[in-house]
Amino acid sequence: MSFKDIRGHDRLIAILKKYMQSQRIPSAFLFLGPEGIGKGLVARALAGALNCTEETSRPCGRCPSCLKIERNQHPDFFILGASDDKNNGDTPAIKIEQIRQLQNRISLKAYEAKFKAVIIENAHNLTAESSNALLKVLEEPPPDTVFMIISSKPALLFKTIISRCQILRFSALPPAELEIILKKDYGLNTQEAHFLAFFCEGRLGSALKHRDDGLFRQKNTIIDSFRSGDKPLPDYLEDKDTIRLSFSLLAGWLRDLYLLKSGAAGNQGLINLDQKERLSEAIRRYRFSDLDEALRQVSNSSLYLEQNVNSKLLLSCLRGFIRG
Ligand SMILES: [Zn+2]
Repeated sequence: MSFKDIRGHDRLIAILKKYMQSQRIPSAFLFLGPEGIGKGLVARALAGALNCTEETSRPCGRCPSCLKIERNQHPDFFILGASDDKNNGDTPAIKIEQIRQLQNRISLKAYEAKFKAVIIENAHNLTAESSNALLKVLEEPPPDTVFMIISSKPALLFKTIISRCQILRFSALPPAELEIILKKDYGLNTQEAHFLAFFCEGRLGSALKHRDDGLFRQKNTIIDSFRSGDKPLPDYLEDKDTIRLSFSLLAGWLRDLYLLKSGAAGNQGLINLDQKERLSEAIRRYRFSDLDEALRQVSNSSLYLEQNVNSKLLLSCLRGFIRG
């Protein structure tokens, strides 16, 4: 991953490059902004750039250091709290043992890197204990170590940690702009680019994740499983992450109906633009009050899901509010 492959964060990348040119790199950065927006991509690129062996255009993405960082095989590159640690959809706390272990590793001299790079993803999952331990490290950071602390929920971070960091704020792109980027730079066709850009509300990281998991190919099947009231629910709607996603897809479908019904949608604002005809046909079966109620039910179901209410029950209840 090189900086030039990252879209939509030019201003922040320019700031990071300035730091690197000045040779005065802060020991800790705090990357703030909504989830799925590319904060992790920028952090990885910075870790690469700090250690890349190329003279120009760092990170090059090809030298041994860049490749090792990309594959998580660099001995001086550490990631904590990555979303991969997810278990049952619940992101576990970042525990004090993990911070202590990290502290031991970075107190040693670097094996081969110019800068030891530490990424702490989902830093809002630090426990009070581990926040205190991290704070101690940040107060006296080991030399040549750069922390990149990432969070979408800064209200949950210790103020004392925030005050030790150089803050960079990330924001989403306008969806129409992301659509163009997905077409031009990632080679997606118009329909998929449009859907991903609008469904992900301009968040590049989310759009790329859903490109990789093939959401565009599956989304109509998932939406249809709510619209065909009496058929049994498909098996894939059993895992909590998929159910959460299916609620978002359904909310998007209802929102499209709302836009069409109110006449507010220039076509371009629709998430499911590929389904324009079916939307126009479905709209006849809804009054505004039906759409309000259905959207309210989706949002309630999402809350109940997080409280571990039986998901089969939630899904079949919800279908009662969808009028084809
Ligand atoms: Zn390189």
